[in-house]
Amino acid sequence: MRLANKVALVTGASRGIGKAIALAYACEGADVAVNYLHSMKEAEEVAASARKMGRRSIAVKADVGNKSDIDHMVAAVMKEFGRIDILVNNAGVGMVAPSAMLEESAWRRGIDVLLTGVFLCSQAVGREMIKQKSGKIVNISSVVGLGGMPERAAYGSAKAGVINLTKVLGCEWANHHINVNAICPGFVRTDLVTELMSRGLYNEKELLKLVPLGRLGEPEDVASVAVFLASEESSYITGQAISVDGGWLAYSYLESWLETAKERA
Ligand code: NAP
Repeated sequence: MRLANKVALVTGASRGIGKAIALAYACEGADVAVNYLHSMKEAEEVAASARKMGRRSIAVKADVGNKSDIDHMVAAVMKEFGRIDILVNNAGVGMVAPSAMLEESAWRRGIDVLLTGVFLCSQAVGREMIKQKSGKIVNISSVVGLGGMPERAAYGSAKAGVINLTKVLGCEWANHHINVNAICPGFVRTDLVTELMSRGLYNEKELLKLVPLGRLGEPEDVASVAVFLASEESSYITGQAISVDGGWLAYSYLESWLETAKERA
């Protein structure tokens, strides 16, 4: 097992990508703290699944947009497990709004949860990792942090900020043997995306025209990369943002060209 005897804290692990990462970590031998905000029952079920695999696991409530909640969460995890080897900053909300109409309060909440929360969790856990002289931090950014997607002013700015924060902390904490990397998922089939689809903001058929690998991502596609970035296999990688997007960002031609190329192949 690649994460035997490690302790991981995964934010936003009650559902979606965070849940898949928490379970993949447990499967690889790690004890896991499952953070949630609203979905207590789901978070308790994730922790119960990890315990069924023979791991120690607790569910911890905290709003990552709130510093006092973060401090209590990290203290609770330290009390339970005595250390934190892996932090995954995954908690997040989808935010889509025309920029001209975006309320200041929505902008601030988006930045608080999606960027400041990543910094404050990394700072609180990083202080423990510095004492331990080792650690792995995996930040879940987005392809939206790498390109300009309309109506994602707060979301895209926060996700771009997470990528730079990843580089800053990766360099700054390298001498403490703390690796800091980011994953930039494309469209992954979770509640976040299905909710936007049900509102008519995305259409799966149209999205797939952008993705050379021809399917939406699944939470497990992200989780397997998160396992790699938490394991010793990635010990010489830090400050990187890795896209897990089915080739979406690599592809910059017309839809018809991709179709023609597929027919010719
Ligand atoms: P999801 O299925 O909607 O799950 C979101 C998770 O984040 C839930 O566990 C939720 O907990 C938690 N959460 C939300 N706000 C929180 C807060 N303030 N404090 C603590 N936990 C909070 O979303 P997802 O698709 O798995 O997204 C996970 C991450 O991947 C996000 O950072 C998202 O931006 C990023 N991402 C997703 C996609 C995609 O296509 N799905 C693409 C790129 C990036 P509760 O339910 O308990 O409230």
